[in-house]
Amino acid sequence: MKVLLKGPSSVLKLKKRYALLMVSLSTLPVISAQAEIQLSGEIKQGGLVIGKTHTNNVVRLNKKVLPVSAQGDYVFAFSRDDKMKYTLTITSPAGKIETQTFTPTKRDYKISRVEGISKKIMNPNKKANIRAGEDRAAMVKVRKVSSNLTDFSQGFIAPRSARITGVYGSQRFYNGIAKNPHFGVDYAGQIGAPVKAPASGTVLLWVPDMFYSGGTLVIDHGHGITSNFLHLSASLVKVGDKVKQGDIIAKVGNSGRVTGPHLDWRMNWHQVRFDPQLAMKISPIQ
Ligand SMILES: [Zn+2]
Repeated sequence: MKVLLKGPSSVLKLKKRYALLMVSLSTLPVISAQAEIQLSGEIKQGGLVIGKTHTNNVVRLNKKVLPVSAQGDYVFAFSRDDKMKYTLTITSPAGKIETQTFTPTKRDYKISRVEGISKKIMNPNKKANIRAGEDRAAMVKVRKVSSNLTDFSQGFIAPRSARITGVYGSQRFYNGIAKNPHFGVDYAGQIGAPVKAPASGTVLLWVPDMFYSGGTLVIDHGHGITSNFLHLSASLVKVGDKVKQGDIIAKVGNSGRVTGPHLDWRMNWHQVRFDPQLAMKISPIQ
């Protein structure tokens, strides 16, 4: 479901949109038509939602208080198999409360098979396991960062103008063995092909040689929203650098566990991995 409201225009417009949604997407929960809650994004497994409110309001998603920027921006996302029922509550300083309740729409994910992964990577030795564990810990740590950047609120563009070769949520079988679901969007590209920043932000991490993900770059877009770029051959930026949407920040590679060069772009809201293709559908709220 897409709830997009531009400008303070009218409650009428809002009601109309909700009415439409309720007709076309009957499995979706009914959303109260309250103009105070302005959202863009899809209430769907793997979806990203941005919201706008008065900066002094307190926003809660269930019990979790979401940071609200000075411009009133906030954000949340749903994991791949999220079946939770959520209540979004906005409380004004005067104690006025607006709520909206929803459950992300269920999705069906693609199953794919990849053969020819080397034995060395399929059955990592002890040293490799230790390294992979360290890589994982570094990524978990970096996803805990919650900066006050608000770059997420401007929306996201594709990091490559190239064919998409892998999608979010798909489950892969390597040499016939079921693996963790794929959380990125894969783009075609030769070694050295450019990777653009999908949104502005700050570089949080660059590791040239992670065991599974190879050259790995993380960009912070604010409020726990991060982009990860995997299997890179090089980074053109370093930790702490500010990047602008569309800047060329890295080069495609074939490092880590891959069968060939490509870009794997992943997105997180802290530890929640959401679908970059859904993130690209959000529009800034005026
Ligand atoms: Zn991938």
